[in-house]
Amino acid sequence: MTSKIHNGTLFSALILFASCCTQKTTPRPDTLDIVDFPTAYVPLPAKDFKFILPEVPKLEVCHSPRKDITEDFTSRDKSLIAVKDPKLFNENNTEIIDLSLIPANEYAFPLPNGNVISPYKGKRRHHSGVDIKTFANDTIVSAFDGIVRMAKPFAAYGNVIVVRHYNGLETVYSHNSKNLVKPGDRVLAGQAIALTGRTGRATTEHLHFETRINGVHFNPNIIFDMAKRKLHSKCLVCTQKGNNVIVKSVDILPHQKAGPYVPPSSL
Ligand SMILES: [Zn+2]
Repeated sequence: MTSKIHNGTLFSALILFASCCTQKTTPRPDTLDIVDFPTAYVPLPAKDFKFILPEVPKLEVCHSPRKDITEDFTSRDKSLIAVKDPKLFNENNTEIIDLSLIPANEYAFPLPNGNVISPYKGKRRHHSGVDIKTFANDTIVSAFDGIVRMAKPFAAYGNVIVVRHYNGLETVYSHNSKNLVKPGDRVLAGQAIALTGRTGRATTEHLHFETRINGVHFNPNIIFDMAKRKLHSKCLVCTQKGNNVIVKSVDILPHQKAGPYVPPSSL
């Protein structure tokens, strides 16, 4: 009896030893069997795999608000080209104007069919606008919706019109043979505001066109593609430094473009 038990224990120990030896043998990778689990039995994770996708930016599409401007201009506002606008600029001295958000019916090239005959700055580097020409007494139109701030003869400008726009900009139209609007008039983009002339210091009938922000002029080419007579699809970042304003044109941020966010292909 004792011998039987002893023999049985020895037999079990041998099996256990053989089993351990088998488990310790690591198979070569190329001989691994691929176990084909039935997919129905594989438990799904509690969460889906969204966490491996790049996160959608939290930024929301910014719609340029129409600024609260009124026709209550002071006598100074009505008599000077360069005046400050107290409603512009935030605490960081920055103003963002997204041209891409201005629909086609809310802007107009100021002299339709006109060609540039003298650029901003120019050879003598003090030209404060661009000169655009068609013919005498052609119709000049407002570049954007806004309110006329100034309309009068003014020194070398001759008959001049300044329009303050809801987007924060001001535009200037000079050397006009005739002004068709007066301060306080609300005008729409494309609305006739003057006729081309050569009043003031001008040697030919043309439109001297300026773009300004907070009284400071900047290159109108930043706004308009002068050859195509179209608005650039860009974003203006305007920074106030003392009495000066730096206007930079930047590409529109991805989240500002229409349609769903598409992550860069490299991610
Ligand atoms: Zn000029």
